[in-house]
Amino acid sequence: MTNDELRESLLAAPKNGYTRITAEQRAEMNEYCKRYMTFMDACKTEREATAWAVAEAEKLGFKPFAPGMTANPGEKIFYNCRGKAIALAVVGKESLAKGANICAAHVDSPRMDLKPNPLYEDSEIAYFKTHYYGGIKKYQWPTIELALHGVVYRKDGSVITITIGEDPADPVLMVSDLLPHLAADQMQKTAGKVIAGEQLNVILGSEPIEGEGSDLVKLNIMKWLNEKYGLIEEDFLSAELVIVPAGKCREVGFDRSLLSAYGHDDRVCAYAELEAIFNIGTPTKTAVCILADKEEIGSVGISGMQSHYFEHFMGGLCDAQGVKLEDCFANSFCLSADVSNAYDPNFAEVSDSRNNSRLNYGISICKYTGSRGKGGASDASAEAMGHIRTTFANAGVIWQIATLGKVDQGGGGTVAAYMANRNIVTVDAGVPVLSMHAPLELVSKLDCYETMLACKAIYLA
Ligand code: MN
Ligand code: MN
Repeated sequence: MTNDELRESLLAAPKNGYTRITAEQRAEMNEYCKRYMTFMDACKTEREATAWAVAEAEKLGFKPFAPGMTANPGEKIFYNCRGKAIALAVVGKESLAKGANICAAHVDSPRMDLKPNPLYEDSEIAYFKTHYYGGIKKYQWPTIELALHGVVYRKDGSVITITIGEDPADPVLMVSDLLPHLAADQMQKTAGKVIAGEQLNVILGSEPIEGEGSDLVKLNIMKWLNEKYGLIEEDFLSAELVIVPAGKCREVGFDRSLLSAYGHDDRVCAYAELEAIFNIGTPTKTAVCILADKEEIGSVGISGMQSHYFEHFMGGLCDAQGVKLEDCFANSFCLSADVSNAYDPNFAEVSDSRNNSRLNYGISICKYTGSRGKGGASDASAEAMGHIRTTFANAGVIWQIATLGKVDQGGGGTVAAYMANRNIVTVDAGVPVLSMHAPLELVSKLDCYETMLACKAIYLA
């Protein structure tokens, strides 16, 4: 054998996905991404993504979970976790005792939450005080157009849903930054302190209402909120109002190969899972799609992946089939569908380029996350990696390897550890992202599409 033949037969040679897809697949990819863009424009919070999933699922005949219900092959059931997370199942031909094929993504993203007492006036400008949610670079949030999304529960129990800043006719909100002329001291600070958490105050208005007093701008804003939504100041206490970047998902690049949006992490995997589970017919094993909340702050709380709501749902399905939940979990497989850091040549020094995911090389499989000596990682076993490799190969899914940066560079985690803790074999995989956790993130259309195919392959395994 020549060396070339040896290379060909022995060495791995990853190829750009564009050299591997057909014209037909490319057309499908573009159609898929249009649908994804529509989803992203409609869903910027976990509540909006959950509501969207419920509405689509109901159209397709999914029924809400109720204890005591049946779980026969082909039945489609969803569990709406208080409007903030959702699990959907298509019951398979085999018993749940043989396990389920699960894909778990999250639908919360880094942002700024309003404090419980947010509205104030300073120097005749009205503001909201915020508390950032998830891992952000605080300096990225001033001087960009912001929108307000969320719900308010009034004392009489009625709920108001608010979205301001997305319709082109709406006003937007904004955090100010310091002019460079006077930033001599600011520019000496480290990036983490250039903008302090308590400086993420969102400008709401500047026009005083007629009359006397030191709160005329605040009063005018409260009057506007009352006229438009019937709110009084105390209502902020029973609200979840969040500040997110305003605007739509856009194509990026002259070749339109990339997509920019707020919160690709992790709605890009959430949407892939949803579209996959909506198009699988009756699978062999029960397919389960999870859109979790609170991943960005540790998967805690009632709607996070550590919550018992998942046992409530899966336990109910198992009860319907006379199966022990523990047996189901022990035989299940979970794709923890979450984004990875795409290799960025602008910041090459943080990555091991041989082990980093790249744009356009397909869904990235991450054997382990964690930090330092794999601390906190759900390190997938050789068997688990073998299973996913075989599944993707059989389905023709374009995939690649991912690691989260160079050793000792930093780290992170996903829901994988919490699924694995349940005695479910779990592997992390997802879409490579540039500028992860920035107000606008970038993904490649090809990777989005391959991730949908990957979820489908897992459901049908
Ligand atoms: Mn994520
Ligand atoms: Mn994240």
